[in-house]
This record gives sequence, C-alpha cells and structure tokens, in this order.
Amino acid sequence: YRAKVDGLGVAVFDPEVDMAGEDHLQRVAELREGIRAGELVLHFQPKISLATGDLEGVEALVRWDRPGIGVVPPYGFLPLATRAGLMGEVTVAVLDAAAAQAARWRAIGIDLPIAVNIPAMTFRNDRLPVLMEGLLSSYGLPGSAIQVEITEEALLKDRDRARTVLTALRAMGVRSAIDDYGTGYSSLVYLQELDVDEVKIDRSFVLPLLQDERSASIVRSTIDLVHALGLRVVAEGIEESRVADALTALGCDAAQGFHWTRPLPAADFESWFGTYRTIATMATMRVADEE
Ligand code: C2E
Ligand code: MG
Ligand code: MG
Ligand code: MG
Repeated sequence: YRAKVDGLGVAVFDPEVDMAGEDHLQRVAELREGIRAGELVLHFQPKISLATGDLEGVEALVRWDRPGIGVVPPYGFLPLATRAGLMGEVTVAVLDAAAAQAARWRAIGIDLPIAVNIPAMTFRNDRLPVLMEGLLSSYGLPGSAIQVEITEEALLKDRDRARTVLTALRAMGVRSAIDDYGTGYSSLVYLQELDVDEVKIDRSFVLPLLQDERSASIVRSTIDLVHALGLRVVAEGIEESRVADALTALGCDAAQGFHWTRPLPAADFESWFGTYRTIATMATMRVADEE
C-alpha cells in the first residue's frame, strides 16, 4: 500500500487504487498537476428564500477546467481524486477559491455567503477549523461569509469528532448544512445533537414531488421535523415553478434549482444576479402601483 498525505494532512491507505495501471497513474498525475496549476474553478448557484424571493447565498460547485479539453463536472474527477487521496487538496483549493471570491464580491457590494461542499474524509479532520480560520483572516472575511455543506455520512461516522469540528466552525461564525438529506441512514434525532443550522433535502425527493405521493410525504415530513428541531430547511433540484410553489406552501425556507439558474461562473453569476435584482425591484414597484 502507498500512504499519501493530502492537503489537509489526511493519510490515505487505499488498497483498491491500481498503482500498476499507467492510465490511472497518468490521470492522477494530470489531476494533481491541474489542482496545483489552479485549474479547479468554481461555479455558483443561488439559494433563494421562498418567502421573499431574495437571495440568501450561493453554493460553490467545483469544475476542472482542463486546457484544451474543456470543463469537467464533479462526477468526472472527484471519484478519481477520492481514490487517489487528493480530496484534501481539492478541498483546500475550493475553500481558497471560495474565500477569494467572497472577498472580491464583498468589495463590489455583493454580500452573499458562499457555501462549500466538504467531503466526509476531510470533514472529520480537525485541521479544517484551523484552515478556515487562516483563510478568513488572510482574506479579511467574517465567518458568516463562508458556509459548509456536509453529508450525513460525514457527521455520523464519528459523531464526537464531527461535534468538535462543527463547534469550532460555529465559534468562528461559519454556518453549516447537512447536504443530500434523506439519502443516508441517519435520523434527525442524531442531527439534533450536532450544531448544524440547515438541512438540505436531496433532489431525488424534490424532483418527483408533484408526481409521486411517497416523495411528497418524505418532503413534507422532513420539513416539519427539521422545523420542530428549530433548524432551517432547503430544497435542492427545483426545475419548475409549480414545485417551488408547492414547497413554499409546505413551509420550506429556501430552494435551489435550474428553475432559477444552473450553477454559473462568477462573471455570469454577477450578470444573472443583476438582472434578477432588477426584475425583483420592478415587481415590487408594480405591486406598489396597484395598491
Ligand atoms: P450537491 O452538493 O448536492 O450539489 C447540487 C448538485 O445538483 C449540483 O451538481 C447542481 O448543479 C445540481 N443541481 C442544482 N439544481 C438542479 C436542478 O434543478 N436539477 C438537477 N437535475 N440538478 C441540479 P454538480 O455541480 O454536478 O455537483 C454534484 C455533486 O458533486 C455535488 O452535489 C457535491 O456532492 C459534489 N461537489 C460539487 N462541488 C464540490 C466541491 O467543491 N467539493 C466537494 N467535495 N464536492 C463537490
Ligand atoms: Mg452541496
Ligand atoms: Mg446536495
Ligand atoms: Mg445532491
């Protein structure tokens, strides 16, 4: 076995990595070089408050922009990064890019928290709070500028460690969300004892909301349970306005989805946001006119 130490100091022993396959080695080498050359880029998708239509924040979603090849989506390289022990480096690069973007946006008056996906393995590493602290101070950001999204798996495998990390992040003002809720084995009762702020319902329950009574029951009961625990609930994967309306009626707090926009590169997001704000303002003026 080969032991590797990635960017967060996580030692990875992976007997399944086929070190003999040249193809594999070549791909790993390219990915590692790509990460170091700054080829990982972030796209941003807004999170919309269902009650007001305002933007609450954005989620940062990583892509590998390979020169001469094009933009590779997460499923095209995150599994390889995971097997090769590179997820720590990916996470460091993503957090740094998110903090840099937050600082640039705040300088031009776009004050939206950026949520970053933290993989299970690096989440359980206690260097995450140290890394976060360093980034916030070097970019001059308050903790509220960055949020973390963690899957249930990451939180439940080692609950004591998860609690320590979440508490340290919270002390800096960094809010946290459980991602892809409903796909794991956890129960909300466990989540209650962890310091999280938000639960994101997986899009596999949200997409068929209007067609499938079972998904509708899951979404409805999740919203009620999350609220009973005093947390906020966000739905992923809203593709049509009728689904947004149904979620609003169920009391869901916020939502993301192609209905508003796909994840966009920073500059495209800025134009989208400018237009969205203008339309929202005009709609408010129209309502005022009618009154
Ligand atoms: P996720 O964190 O649950 O992110 C939501 C995914 O749903 C994104 O896919 C987003 O583009 C997609 N999505 C958003 N709205 C809709 C919709 O209305 N319909 C449909 N069909 N899909 C929608 P993406 O960007 O391909 O990312 C996939 C997954 O890859 C993410 O799921 C996350 O688990 C992982 N990922 C993405 N970026 C990062 C990262 O920076 N670090 C880590 N560790 N994982 C990441
Ligand atoms: Mg996410
Ligand atoms: Mg998700
Ligand atoms: Mg998901």
